[in-house]
Amino acid sequence: MAKETKYSICFWCKPRCRLKVEVEDNRLIKMATSPIKACPRKYCSDLERFYHPDRLDYPLKRVGDRGENKWQKITWDEALDEIAYKLQALKDQYGAETLAVTHGTSRTYEELNSRFLNLFGSPNQCGQAQICHGNSAVVATALFGWWPYWMNVEKLENTRCLMLIGRNPPHSHQTIWEGYLKARKTGTKLIVIDPRRSESAAEADLWLQIRPGTDAALLLGMMNVIIKEKLYDKAFVRDWCHGFDALSERVKEYPVEKVSEITWVPADQIVAAARMFATETPSCAMEGMGVAHQPNSYSPIAARHIISAIVGNVDVPGGEELMGPAPFITEHEIEMAEALPREQRSKILGNQFRLYTWPGYELIQKNVERVWGKRCDMFGYTCMATAPSVYKAIAYDDPYPVRALITVSSNPMVTIPNTKLVYKALKSLDLYVVADYFMTPSAQLADYVLPSALWLERSFLWNYHNTTPVIRAGEAALPPSIPGMYDRRNDYDFWRGLGIRLGQEEYWPWETVEDYYDYRLEPLGITFGELVKKGKIITKKSEYKKYEKTGFGTPTGKIELYSTVMENLGYDPLPHYKEPPESPTRTPDLAKKYPLVLITGGRFHPFFHSEHRQVETLRKRYPWAKMQINPETARDLGLKNDDWVWIETQHGRVMQKVLIDKDIDPRVVHAQHGWWYPEMPGEEPWLHGVWVSNINVCTAGDEETCDEALGSWPLRTFQCKVYKVESFNGDHPLAK
Ligand code: SF4
Repeated sequence: MAKETKYSICFWCKPRCRLKVEVEDNRLIKMATSPIKACPRKYCSDLERFYHPDRLDYPLKRVGDRGENKWQKITWDEALDEIAYKLQALKDQYGAETLAVTHGTSRTYEELNSRFLNLFGSPNQCGQAQICHGNSAVVATALFGWWPYWMNVEKLENTRCLMLIGRNPPHSHQTIWEGYLKARKTGTKLIVIDPRRSESAAEADLWLQIRPGTDAALLLGMMNVIIKEKLYDKAFVRDWCHGFDALSERVKEYPVEKVSEITWVPADQIVAAARMFATETPSCAMEGMGVAHQPNSYSPIAARHIISAIVGNVDVPGGEELMGPAPFITEHEIEMAEALPREQRSKILGNQFRLYTWPGYELIQKNVERVWGKRCDMFGYTCMATAPSVYKAIAYDDPYPVRALITVSSNPMVTIPNTKLVYKALKSLDLYVVADYFMTPSAQLADYVLPSALWLERSFLWNYHNTTPVIRAGEAALPPSIPGMYDRRNDYDFWRGLGIRLGQEEYWPWETVEDYYDYRLEPLGITFGELVKKGKIITKKSEYKKYEKTGFGTPTGKIELYSTVMENLGYDPLPHYKEPPESPTRTPDLAKKYPLVLITGGRFHPFFHSEHRQVETLRKRYPWAKMQINPETARDLGLKNDDWVWIETQHGRVMQKVLIDKDIDPRVVHAQHGWWYPEMPGEEPWLHGVWVSNINVCTAGDEETCDEALGSWPLRTFQCKVYKVESFNGDHPLAK
């Protein structure tokens, strides 16, 4: 067969680059390098990942005890028949809510998880959104009536000041960083709020080295300065903001000196940052996981939006642009939220977190629809079961039995807090199905493990969940299935196959994922194949100050500095600061035993969360998990670079290696997340080394520690102690 050139969308990280691929005889020959300079793919070739001997090739059914790593190869039809039969039996016995679905970071067609579940009748779609940008999407939509569009690099050319809050785009969103570097040449200022001197912080005009978990206090203190010094946009606030007087009263509770004490940021820096953000306009704030992973994440996220609103950044070039929906069939429309019966909605696990579940969703989206004509994508991101509630329900039948779980491209044993709870939950299931690319610690506990198509084997339509006007398309460069070699499927085939077996046939009329994408593109008059050839389509041009014609998609038609949605749901309508559940001031006795503040979850290349640990080239560069610690603290503890240490919290302890870093606060340590060791045995008790360095063994998964409105769970601000691992047993893999 002749060489062919194809174009596929890489899903390894945020930019979702469209790459030219050469194939011959169904084999990958060559792939273009990324247009992104900081592409983590440069560390290894996708040939190595794609043709890795550990990739899952055929459906597997457990034949030994759960966790014994004994499997039988079966066909897809056998797997789907058996799974559908068991799901129906469990539904008949316990109700549809007995099934939960969990997924990872946009490796899959997540709108289809929602479609299947809504039609099945379960409200329990659960993923990472509450600790990713999902909570930002919900808060922004509640306050602004749409989620500001900050995926566009070009807009930064018009931004005079960028404020990054707990965000390090060189590692987490490289296109934004490239956009900033370009904008910097024209004098764009940079403020970075981060406990670590990240790559972004190193470039900043102002780096505010904050105590973890105190961003709400800092932003309220900055607003105190902006309002006291009358640096806000008076006309915009008067005409288009609801609740300015109440906000002004609230920020009086946060004078700069008090905020400095709370946050560890010197008072003069707080004032300087406030002045810079308010006068170098249009400015733009971008929060990251440092904020999303906090125990009280609503307030810092709300405060970040409010500070931007009062200085007049909303819907202006270079500011917080509100794009509205792209004119095609959105993921939200595919999800069929309306198909979920009303009595099932209230059963969503974590329904006490009212902003992120049905009560908040309904209050927010009806106003969005009034102004934009469509809902803000996507339901499966903005109305979800909360992970700690899901795993508690599975483990303890509380508040009702959840006996079946489907995990699509995710590894909850590593990525969900309180690994011990997750382990207990997964071990107790009646039916656990995992679809993934490689065997993982979570998959080892499954009844069925299904091989998924990687990005080169699947078609993809991408527009950042309808937050941008750009739609990109990439084709499957390689067949997911080659008789006699492997039989992988994309999750469209999985959900459709399961749906048809469970009476959903009329809702899955498209035979292939490409047919399904044709349907979604119909309103644009283009087929998926045509869009693949074209590369991308820009569905509309930027248009600013649209609110002057329509108002904002909020209950008051204005930006809600004082949120009537929050008020309606019984929460404080204004942002406020609350000490983290564990902290030197809130739990001083705990802090005596565990004197350091542990943060986790910061991205580091070339890994992405729990992925790629089996890729030899990458592991040669980064063989073990590492923990950053200040040299003073390390000296006091008798530690040097590369020592193995225990990181211990009241919840558990794991080992990582020391990485001395002069730019981390001496009171804080940062432990890498996502670590497991595929080379260690798969069967219990090893589960590929999931208990060795996985920092979620040390985090808490109690609902009480989740944000009261959003249900987001903390991955930071745990009190910990660090001490040297004195020795290993002779046969321990780490002893070698
Ligand atoms: S790894 Fe990220 S930056 Fe590199 S090609 Fe893939 S999506 Fe683009």
